Amino acid sequence: MQLLEERILKDGKVRDGNVLKVDNFLNHQMDITLFGEMAREFYRLFQFDNVTKILTIEASGIGIACITAQVFNCPVIFAKKSKTKNIAGDVYTSKVESFTHGGTYDIIVSKEYLKPSDRVLIIDDFLANGSALSGLSSLVKDAGATLIGAGIAIEKAFQSGGDTLRSQGMRIESLAKIKSMENGKVQFCDNSCN
Ligand code: 5GP
Repeated sequence: MQLLEERILKDGKVRDGNVLKVDNFLNHQMDITLFGEMAREFYRLFQFDNVTKILTIEASGIGIACITAQVFNCPVIFAKKSKTKNIAGDVYTSKVESFTHGGTYDIIVSKEYLKPSDRVLIIDDFLANGSALSGLSSLVKDAGATLIGAGIAIEKAFQSGGDTLRSQGMRIESLAKIKSMENGKVQFCDNSCN
């Protein structure tokens, strides 16, 4: 998506450890006009899939997921990050390795909000090694719901998550795909990059 790529080039900052900072428009300050365009692109891609629910993970996926849910006219659920091992109540839980902070944490979603009849579209800000996406998809699976696929704002295609999850059959649509971030310079995938 050209608009998003241009914004990444203008305001994105490459940090150590293959981290792209996009706090100016996506992860801290949020450009809702841009989110609206992204949401419309996700809708164009998934409009015939009868999505009944959008699922994301706190915190930075929530903004994009909400604007996207508005276009799909369906509810949005965010998986909560949980510090307590044994959570009381009826929840689906799975483990995620944090790319940006290191370590592993549990994510939970109440069984009340994810049902076997749901057709779920996952929305997230980044795809790197795929742990967040894989954790979210296992919540969907545990609920017996149908996973339609995932809409990702920025995929770092030089990391393994996208290839691995696509090879397992997951439909992933990324609005900006980064081929490399060497020497602080962001380069996007052309047709050669998955
Ligand atoms: P994964 O689980 O695919 O390795 O990483 C995805 C999660 O890590 C996303 O939900 C996002 O919050 C965070 N993340 C991964 N890479 C980056 C990055 O380069 N920049 C930022 N800001 N967040 C990232």
